Parts: sequence; structure tokens; C-alpha cells
Amino acid sequence: MKTKKFWIVVSFSTVVIIFAWLASTLFGGYNPISLRQLNRLFASLGFWFFFLQFALSSRLKLIEAGFGLNRMIHYHRLLGRVALIFLLLHPLFLFIHEGVLSRGSLFRFAGLTALLGLMLTAFVASFHKKLKLSYELWLNIHKVNYILFPVALIHVFGNALPGSLLYYLWVILTLLFAIFLVAKAAREVNVRKNPYKVVKVQQESKDIWSLYFQGKQFAYKPGQFMYLRLLREGKLSSSHPFTISSSPTWEMLTVTPKELGDFTATIKDTKVGDLALIEAPYGVFSFLNHDCERLVFIAGGIGITPFMSMLRYIYDNKIEKQVTIIWGNKDEEALCFQEELDNMTSEMGNIIVVYVMSAQESWRGEKGRISAKVIEKYVPDPASCHFFICGPPALSLAVMKILREKRVPAGRMHHELFEF
Ligand SMILES: Cc1cc2nc3c(=O)[nH]c(=O)nc-3n(C[C@H](O)[C@H](O)[C@H](O)COP(=O)(O)OP(=O)(O)OC[C@H]3O[C@@H](n4cnc5c(N)ncnc54)[C@H](O)[C@@H]3O)c2cc1C
Repeated sequence: MKTKKFWIVVSFSTVVIIFAWLASTLFGGYNPISLRQLNRLFASLGFWFFFLQFALSSRLKLIEAGFGLNRMIHYHRLLGRVALIFLLLHPLFLFIHEGVLSRGSLFRFAGLTALLGLMLTAFVASFHKKLKLSYELWLNIHKVNYILFPVALIHVFGNALPGSLLYYLWVILTLLFAIFLVAKAAREVNVRKNPYKVVKVQQESKDIWSLYFQGKQFAYKPGQFMYLRLLREGKLSSSHPFTISSSPTWEMLTVTPKELGDFTATIKDTKVGDLALIEAPYGVFSFLNHDCERLVFIAGGIGITPFMSMLRYIYDNKIEKQVTIIWGNKDEEALCFQEELDNMTSEMGNIIVVYVMSAQESWRGEKGRISAKVIEKYVPDPASCHFFICGPPALSLAVMKILREKRVPAGRMHHELFEF
């Protein structure tokens, strides 16, 4: 449904751009089906999709709340490619039309600079894993787009027909871009003005730690996530997304990172009294967003964190929904929160936890991967349930495939990925 809404908005806005281009072409007395004017259409569409990149990655609550940040980043990636295709067609058509890209001018130079820069940032975004660039480095390279857009604006205004509909549209986009920048800066000032204090650092397993924070309280739904920066020994870390593992019923806020790379490996060095900058809440992965009585939570490894938040909320509010948690791990050593989960299940008859171990022969319960057989055994009526899935992409894909085969409607399958 959300996907449909998004494509309706994109299609409608594309039609508006095409209409504005047509009106502006006729306003200038040009033939719209000439090579030169078609070339302008590609440029206009490319510029529009380039602008949408900022809206989609802005983390503005107004936009994010409807779709969730994961989905917005997905669209950001998709439409970024569309923008690049249109923007590459633009000089190609110009070349066909003019023979050589001869007449140099400031406007043309600005356009070329923006295009080359965009190609570079798109290349880095697509291949940063293969290039083995750190997440922070490629993200910083990607941020060059905030400079490339104003450079592209010089080109756009240098070529737009003053007084035409398209010209006014570009003025509006310029204003909106300025608003995004101001909103981003205001958010940063606000986050820095309200730092949180680390009040507890708790080891949950050999490589999983929970951080407890105290600070300004905010409303969030169980299952949502936040961006975290830690200020330790006067050094501010990069910003990383983590699910809020506490429940909104708690006074303290917690996250539970597992050691994975540069940043998460340092979580254990965090000290009580260290400060944290927190940007939250984000995401739409919460059972509270759906009207459902039977809940099935399927987690892989550290993917348990959003479910801990939801379970803690269900437990604290004594909610009587039927909840089945199927949690895949390598072995018992990888588990965290087991005691708390076992207490919840023994106190509340409506919660069942099924542990599935993939690499522990001695395990008495379910062994192997989370399979159709395991799901069938513990969820005999899948079509009447809402499934929430969080874990490595391979697990999410495999479970979604099983559920589709069991004819679970798409609207009852919700998943969260721990990477964008
Ligand atoms: C919505 C969401 C919720 C998450 N919740 C949890 C959680 O509860 N517990 C947990 O252990 N992990 C969680 N993660 C994953 C966590 O953000 C990464 O493990 C962490 O950022 C890795 O950083 P690193 O420097 O230690 O590792 P790196 O080796 O630098 O990164 C490993 C991978 O993590 C991702 N990543 C790294 N930095 C960022 C960043 N700044 N923004 C987005 N992705 C990044 C990239 O895919 C990267 O390839 C969540 C991720 C997302 C998107």
C-alpha cells in the first residue's frame, strides 16, 4: 500500500514536470518534438529526480513517518539511478544535436561539473563494498551531492527561460532545498543541545552489550530505531542506527549493539557518564502500526532487539495478544536476554519462545535453520497472523518466500533490515 502511494506521488510529480516543460517550450515558441527540446525534457526530469534524492534521504519526520527510513533509502537508491540515466541522456542528446560540445560557458561548465560529480558519487555508492571503503568514508563522499546540487542550479537557471512555468518550478525547488538544509541544521542544533548520559553498560553475551541512557524523554513505538553518536574522551563517534531495545514504558532508553565492525567493537569501552547524541525515533517496524491479534516474531541473531522492545511493551502493559517468537542463533552462547524471555513466557501464557540453533548438536530444542517445517509446527494458522521478521537479509528472504508459499498476504508480512 505504501509502495503504491509512493509511486502515485512520483508518477504525478513526473507528469507535472512534463507538463511544465511542455508549457515552457510552447511559451518560448519552440517545437517540443525537436531534439533540442527533448533534450531539455531529459535534463528537467533528471534534475527533478536529483532533487528527490534530498527529500528521500533527509530523515524528515514528515516524509519518513509514512514509509519508514529503510524504504525511503531503498527509493533513494532506485530514483538516484533514474536521475543519472536522464542526466546522462542530456549531454548525449546535446552532442547529437550540436555535433561537438563546443560553446563553453560558466553555465555549461557548472552542468558538466555537477554531472561528473554525480557520476562519481553514484559509482562510490554502488561499489563501496567492492572498493572496501569504510561506511563513513563512502557516506562522506556521498555528501558531496549537497554541493553538487547548488552547482547544478547554476546550470539550470543559466538555461531556464525566465517567466516560464519551468523557471518558477526551479525557484520552488531551490527554496525547498534551502528548507531541507535549514531543517537538517536545526535538527543537529537540537540534538547537540540535548545530549543523553550513559547510566549503565551491561554485557548481554560475549559480544553483545546494552547501553542505558538518561535524558530528555520522547515518544516512540516499540520496534523503532535511533541514530546514536557517542562522545567518549572528548571524541565524537560517527552516527550509527540501532533499534531502541527498551520499551516506551521504561524511563531509560537502551540500545543493544553486537560487535561487528569498527564502531560496535568499541561499545564495551563506553563508560558510565559518557555522553551520547541521539536522533530518534525512526522506522515503522512496530506491531502498534497494525491491527492484529496473532503476532509471530521471527528473528535471526541480534535481530531480536526490536522484538525485545515490543515484548517488554506487551509484558509491561499486560497485552493479551498471542505472540510466538521464533529466534534463530548459532548456539546457546550467542543468546542474550534468555532469562528475561523465559520469565516473560512463564508469567504470561500468551507468549511462546522457540529457540532454533543452527550449529549446536547438543541442543534439545529445534535445530538447523528456521524452515517451513519449524514455522508450520509453531504457527499452524499462518494466514491469520501478522509476521514481523528481523535478521540477516538471507534469513528475511528465505522466511518471506516460505510465507508467500503459505499464502500469507503481503500486508501481513513486515520486515526490518539492519542495513540500508
Ligand atoms: C534500522 C537499523 C537498526 C539496527 N539495529 C541494530 C541493533 O539493534 N543491534 C545491532 O547490533 N545492530 C543494529 N543495526 C546495525 C548497526 O547499525 C551496524 O551493525 C553498525 O552500524 C555497524 O557499524 P560498525 O562501524 O561497527 O561496522 P562496519 O564494519 O563499519 O559496518 C558494517 C555494516 O553495517 C552497516 N553500517 C555501518 N555504519 C552504518 C551507518 N552509520 N549507518 C547505516 N548502516 C551502517 C553497513 O551495512 C556496513 O556494511 C541496525 C541497523 C539498522 C539499519
